[in-house]
Amino acid sequence: VSGCADAPNPLVDKSRSDANFAVRVSTYFDVLNHAHGGAFAMARYIFITGGVVSSLGKGLASAALGALLQARGYTVRLRKLDPYLNVDPGTMSPFEHGEVFVTDDGAETDLDLGHYERFTGVAARKTDSISSGRVYSTVLDKERRGDYLGKTIQVIPHVTNEIKDFLKIGNDEVDFMLCEIGGTVGDIEGLPFFEAIRQFSHDKPRGECIFMHLTLLPYLAASGELKTKPTQHSVKELQSIGIAPDILVCRSEHPIPDKEREKIALFCNVRKESVVAAYDLKSIYEAPLAYHAQGLDQAVLDAFGISPAPAPKLDMWHDVYDRIHNYDGDVKVAIVGKYTQLEDAYKSIAEALTHGGMANRVKVKIEWVDAELFDREDAAPYLEGYHAILVPGGFGERGTEGKIKAAQFAREKNIPYLGICLGMQMAVIEAARNVAGIATAGSEEFDHETGSKRFEPVVYHLKEWVQGNHKVARKTDDDKGGTMRLGAYNATLTAGSKVAEVYGTTQIEERHRHRYEVDTKYREQLEKVGLCFSGMSPDGKLPEIVEWKDHPWFIGVQYHPELKSKPFAPHPLFADFVRAAVENSRLV
Ligand code: GLN
Repeated sequence: VSGCADAPNPLVDKSRSDANFAVRVSTYFDVLNHAHGGAFAMARYIFITGGVVSSLGKGLASAALGALLQARGYTVRLRKLDPYLNVDPGTMSPFEHGEVFVTDDGAETDLDLGHYERFTGVAARKTDSISSGRVYSTVLDKERRGDYLGKTIQVIPHVTNEIKDFLKIGNDEVDFMLCEIGGTVGDIEGLPFFEAIRQFSHDKPRGECIFMHLTLLPYLAASGELKTKPTQHSVKELQSIGIAPDILVCRSEHPIPDKEREKIALFCNVRKESVVAAYDLKSIYEAPLAYHAQGLDQAVLDAFGISPAPAPKLDMWHDVYDRIHNYDGDVKVAIVGKYTQLEDAYKSIAEALTHGGMANRVKVKIEWVDAELFDREDAAPYLEGYHAILVPGGFGERGTEGKIKAAQFAREKNIPYLGICLGMQMAVIEAARNVAGIATAGSEEFDHETGSKRFEPVVYHLKEWVQGNHKVARKTDDDKGGTMRLGAYNATLTAGSKVAEVYGTTQIEERHRHRYEVDTKYREQLEKVGLCFSGMSPDGKLPEIVEWKDHPWFIGVQYHPELKSKPFAPHPLFADFVRAAVENSRLV
């Protein structure tokens, strides 16, 4: 097709971008990650529960502990057990549950798995996430098949056994398995999980499982005191179901005085050194160092009776810490989306932008812009003043006209643009409508307010594709859960394209989660006007990346690069997007 391959490289001055950072740290990390392992014949289990209130940062504490155990030379895997009845979070609204994190093997999981991956670098798998819905659905399938013929199916033992079997998967692969139970102790729907972990630890030889419980120490300003009673009650609740915590992690906005620590230890039957304080942090990436300073990893190793404990290597986290706190200026990036009221809806994107900032030693200031505001209006007043624009993934028609306008604004004003999944599809529609002369271009996902199908679908419902060596087929009326194009797929990049330069390779593997696809039927028409299809599925059928040839930085990707970015190995697309934003900020 047209001259897309020889796209000029408009990326100037690479001096600010610390490309070596990602390489150096990830290499260091690989060494770290595979340092020892095999310390024990069978994995040691750490069960992480929460009490008093939700949102205490259990996921973060688990992730940070995973990182600290790695720093001590051990291998880890982290898992999430969620009590809700959805089979997976794939069908939940990001407004309710935050982002859906996708694994390489195509599972739609809780966003905590994103934290686990970002802190440990261990790619999450399907078998790292389970919900009550999944457990019950498996048990009921077995019942229908006749696997339990003659038996009455009950929560104990059938449901609990199913959970225990899940916990055992891969127990000979790592040194430590960290299993976080969603919700708080005392929730009705969580009970089978608590019972299962109690039984699990009982089945194991003594000392192979420990329990870590997160609670809150509220501060009463009137009396100037931290209150320990809710923690005591929460631990009692745990004890009443047969679980005695070994470690207590106490969230507190104020320093925990020694005598309060003693009191908690005494009343909750834990050692004083095992009462670990968790204070508020400026950045989540301080968590490993902060927890280390509070003695969490030492307390955990003590609880397992591991002595002497291997010394921790924390250089990588010191480097991360340094990059968060020592930066040179900031850039403003607009995320033009739909779920802008809940930041967790775009968690991985926000984190990946932060990593991009760390790679360039700048602070990325994210502002959430609701695309619906300018569905029918001029976008300029809403988008002026940003150094870069990102249009993230999304579902449904609301706000899409606004997103199309955001792509147009970025193209016309030479503002760096990163379109992710729906953000790429909107950029293609924009190009088709406003540059290639396909005035009625649209996506089959929407009716474009016409209520009819009279528009030209440049984005269509994907019905068939290749995954590995087999074909996947879908129908329009398929179930909604788990039927998208999900998980890791390879893509081939055009040599000489912007993306090939950004990635430094022409073969990539990225994670997908979508039902619709840009139609290659329009490729020639779009490339003629300068929108290059610079990344394709290996069979050449599915467009994975588009980029404007004569634009400083305009890239749309059908996949979700944000899911693979880490603070110690920022994703190249995000690192370079932020670099382009910095360049742009110098022009204004
Ligand atoms: N709704 C679009 C699709 O299904 C985009 C999905 C996404 O952005 N993750 O293709």
